[in-house]
Amino acid sequence: MLRAELYCYFCGHGSGEVLVATKSRRPTPEQLRAAYSHVTGPRTPQWNAGEQPLCPRCGGQLFLEKYEQQVVRRRAVLKEAS
Ligand SMILES: [Zn+2]
Repeated sequence: MLRAELYCYFCGHGSGEVLVATKSRRPTPEQLRAAYSHVTGPRTPQWNAGEQPLCPRCGGQLFLEKYEQQVVRRRAVLKEAS
């Protein structure tokens, strides 16, 4: 599983993190779309005909902000920082 988030560079909108089931190091647009299909609400990306994720707020193209192997250690670090 990869942890990934789509992010809009134009207005700063973050679509929220999703977990993507993939064996590759970087999720494909199809895999991202499948992962976000489980998420509901106004923050979720919109998808155009070309399989590109678009910002629900400004219509700009969303970019893959981060993607990493899901590790338990990261959650522990966040807890320490807060
Ligand atoms: Zn935007």
